[in-house]
Amino acid sequence: MDEIRIKQLEVFAHHGVFPEENRLGQKFVINAALRTSLRRAGLTDDLTQSMDYGAVCAEIQAFLTQNTFQLLETAAEKLCAHLLQTLPLLDSIVLEIEKPWAPIGLPLKTASVCIERGWHTAYIALGSNIGDSKGYLDGAVQALSNDETMRMDRVSDYIVTKPYGGIEQDDFLNAVLCLKTLLSPHELLERLHEIEQAAHRTREIHWGPRTLDLDILFYDEEIFSDEVLTIPHPEIPKRDFVLRPMAQIAPHFVHPVYHRTMTQLWEQLKNA
Ligand code: ATP
Ligand code: CA
Ligand code: CA
Repeated sequence: MDEIRIKQLEVFAHHGVFPEENRLGQKFVINAALRTSLRRAGLTDDLTQSMDYGAVCAEIQAFLTQNTFQLLETAAEKLCAHLLQTLPLLDSIVLEIEKPWAPIGLPLKTASVCIERGWHTAYIALGSNIGDSKGYLDGAVQALSNDETMRMDRVSDYIVTKPYGGIEQDDFLNAVLCLKTLLSPHELLERLHEIEQAAHRTREIHWGPRTLDLDILFYDEEIFSDEVLTIPHPEIPKRDFVLRPMAQIAPHFVHPVYHRTMTQLWEQLKNA
């Protein structure tokens, strides 16, 4: 991916664990690599197709002087989130904040924190079969759209489906959506659980009736599993109610485990 690099931007600010640091302030030095595609700007010679590094430097300086943090870790974390949320073209950023005057009582050139953060692509499955199912699905789409750590990309049609797993219950309303998120997979799962709880979801029977069920289908091309989270969701190839809407919004997306597109997996299931 292309980068715009900012090297050794000096900002006088008040971050630090010691009260004197917060009172007197000191010099911070910022290095950043802003990742985005520069192809369009390169071909058109048009600044609006790129990120104005002068404006980015002014934004960094304003953010670090208007806020005071104890830790460089927090300053870096919040600054990355701020830049990713305010610069529409920014995909990811590597940010280093140096503290050359760090008061440690020893001769030191600089101490720094360097982190990489960016937008990730997640596919989420939505389902409901109690009460106002359309209202619950709409509410979940709205809650995710309003979250500043997310950018909604596409939402499939809502489809009515027969329940899965052999339990007598009402039909489901199902959908899938694609969004960009700044959250890690586990943070995203926690956020989905909060939205489920706000919809009065209770966990009684596994695969039983529910007001709202939100599952993570995919997170980038990642493959992993622990006690709370398996990604990709293991049931995808068996579920018409997932593959049908996935084939609508992302027909060519390739399953990172099975190496088949959504359309191919859906065809495979229908012919099984
Ligand atoms: P299924 O996962 O087969 O669709 P379910 O959605 O009915 O079943 P829940 O009771 O909603 O199951 O969730 C049980 C647990 O599954 C969650 O608490 C969560 O920790 C875990 N889980 C594992 N992988 C995922 C995933 N990819 N998305 C959502 N939850 C997951
Ligand atoms: Ca589920
Ligand atoms: Ca679930």
